[in-house]
Amino acid sequence: MKSRDPYIFVALDVDNAREAQKIVESLSGVGLGFKIGPRLMLREGAALVSSIAKHGPVFIDCKHFDIPSTMESAVRAAFESGAQYSTVHAMSGPVALEKMAVLEAELNRERLFRILAVTVLTSFSSETLPFGLRGCDIGSLVEGFTMDAFQSKSGVGLKSFVCSAQEAKRIRTLIPDAFLVTPGIRPAGSSLGDQVRVETPASAAKAGASALVVGRPILEAADRRAMAQSILHEFTGA
Ligand code: C5P
Repeated sequence: MKSRDPYIFVALDVDNAREAQKIVESLSGVGLGFKIGPRLMLREGAALVSSIAKHGPVFIDCKHFDIPSTMESAVRAAFESGAQYSTVHAMSGPVALEKMAVLEAELNRERLFRILAVTVLTSFSSETLPFGLRGCDIGSLVEGFTMDAFQSKSGVGLKSFVCSAQEAKRIRTLIPDAFLVTPGIRPAGSSLGDQVRVETPASAAKAGASALVVGRPILEAADRRAMAQSILHEFTGA
């Protein structure tokens, strides 16, 4: 498995291994990563991770938000399955986040493995945030959650985040070498679906994103490979 970070993670938001495998094979050789969420993980489990990993780095996106020891064992299981990325909620609080940072450092002694802290989901607007946060400024929340994950009493922090491209610039300023993954990507003319805080691949690049998560714009394209290549081209300028 290659260990460098890809520029695009294709969200394999489908129902079974057969469909996922078909998509991955149709995109083979483009140099992409593949994101597996609970929809596929619950049905197919770790066996799917190893078969997808033959085509590119696997990103398990189960966004853990639990007691620290449960989060630790879930992320460890993701690592053992052969994935290279796993997500936790940045609003998990300092104790869990510090545990994640210590775990990331330990696992990286074996191979590249990133634990990404999900800041504020791209489907939220300020008015639809949960009770207690509703009406808050999303940029300030993203900044607060990011710093909670980055700083810890022991000084070990996470440096990889999932955020909207609209907040990437703010995080990039705070943590210049952060690894920033931005979902909510829509090439000009694509439909939004349930996403709210969206940006184009070019504007995500300008905002400082390190990599994109793209689902429906690629999955629903008549020519998935051409769409993936065009997004890659727009994002990297190459
Ligand atoms: O189809 P679309 O490009 O909107 O897919 C976005 C993917 O990124 C989905 O799999 C979704 O779960 C994920 N995601 C997101 N917003 C976040 C984190 C992950 O949309 N903040």
